[in-house]
Amino acid sequence: MLYKSTRDSGDARFTSAEVIKRGIADDGGLYVPENIPALGRDEIEKLRRMPYSERAAFILSKFLDDYSYDELLADSTAAYRAESFPGGPAPLARLDDRLFSLELWHGPTAAFKDMALQLMPRLLTRALKKTGEYRTVHILVATSGDTGKAALEGFKDIEQTRITVFYPESGVSLVQKRQMATQTGENVIVCAVRGNFDDCQNGVKRLFSDTELAAELDRRGFFLSSANSINWGRLVPQIVYYVSAYCDLLNIGALGAGDEFCVCVPTGNFGNILAGYFAGLMGIPIKKLICASNLNNVLTDFLRRGIYDRNRTFHKTISPSMDILISSNLERLLYYVAGAEKTRKYTAELGKTGCYQISGEEKDKISEQFIGYYADETETAATIRGIFETYGYLCDTHTAVAFSCAEKYRQETGDNGIITVVSTASPYKFAGDVYRALTGKDSAGEFEALDQLYGYTGAPVPYPLAGIGSRPVRFTASVDKEKMKQYILGM
Ligand SMILES: *Cc1c(COP(=O)(O)O)cnc(C)c1O
Repeated sequence: MLYKSTRDSGDARFTSAEVIKRGIADDGGLYVPENIPALGRDEIEKLRRMPYSERAAFILSKFLDDYSYDELLADSTAAYRAESFPGGPAPLARLDDRLFSLELWHGPTAAFKDMALQLMPRLLTRALKKTGEYRTVHILVATSGDTGKAALEGFKDIEQTRITVFYPESGVSLVQKRQMATQTGENVIVCAVRGNFDDCQNGVKRLFSDTELAAELDRRGFFLSSANSINWGRLVPQIVYYVSAYCDLLNIGALGAGDEFCVCVPTGNFGNILAGYFAGLMGIPIKKLICASNLNNVLTDFLRRGIYDRNRTFHKTISPSMDILISSNLERLLYYVAGAEKTRKYTAELGKTGCYQISGEEKDKISEQFIGYYADETETAATIRGIFETYGYLCDTHTAVAFSCAEKYRQETGDNGIITVVSTASPYKFAGDVYRALTGKDSAGEFEALDQLYGYTGAPVPYPLAGIGSRPVRFTASVDKEKMKQYILGM
């Protein structure tokens, strides 16, 4: 199977190893597969009997056909091993007969980015070998918290890779800072930047476009790359858990052959929900993809009116991983409904004016699969409390946005079928806000919030966060934002 750019109507095609190594296309577009492999009935039957890592290898082998099945199985087995995911990679919790929670946060950083980042670095090292790359890839990440930690855990001790994560010294939470500062691994570096997140991100962007730095690193046998969520190697592992959830719903008898179900996805960059769209294109009977947003509801408006307009107030919310006004992965959906030429046009308008409008026909096509809702801060907090009181189920702030939107969907459409809410973070990752939503009280501090939430709910604390406040700190360096290059060269 070959891949092309969302902005290229020409005939440039690449293997999956090439696109995983390249990340983004030269024309600024994202890579998409030329065709979508279908899943047959007999294949679903086979998948139903497989453990998660085999399901992953099976689905991946359909998209990455320049990797052997044995390579993919070795990688998925290593990525999703029980030591990393003690609760299983993607267990389905049943709230009632029609409401399920797909828990994607049992991995090493207690959030769903582990699902992709535990596997993608392994696919990337193989991609280097397959494309004859002898240099070591040096991953640079600017993070406002969660992605950096998930990338560190994913790349740690993966051969032919090394990773540097820059975070704003005063822009991440205490827990996030401690999670990164205690990172293990021989090929990882964590460094604070004296500045805010924008300083950090702009600094990393400058490093990527610095030809002198590239030449010096090349001389030393390295090249720079990023691991962001537009890389196909991050998207493809996410398709797996939608297929897996469908198999599990069949296995427990919640769905019969041919039955459809809805999924509701707390959305930021549109990567997670797009993977659900791909699962639907493969033949998983997803009735509707419910796109759940917080107050930064640019996607709700887009799905309702066909107008994408980022010119609006940016809100800092209690679901910070969804505080996004440019959803990069939406470009892949645009490509599928409007083609490369229109995608080029829309993304150019977005760059110039921050706004574009799709045609009525394109909007209708999108509405066949997607429907958008949003929840404000009060609704999100009330949902955390409501879900806990009704079902005894504890969820984090992002997942609560999705539960709230799932309920709005039911109210608006009268659809009483099965909804699977995609749960993207452990409630302990946002313990202070979850505790406040439940009790109306502030916690005594960030680390204390973990104990207080445990005391109040009795829900188990995930292993990556247990005792985090007392772990030994390994990385203490901080640099001025002008000195990031010297820092890299001094390694
Ligand atoms: C990244 C993230 C999201 C948003 O996922 P996208 O793929 O960017 O839409 C939602 N919840 C949590 C906890 C996240 O870390």
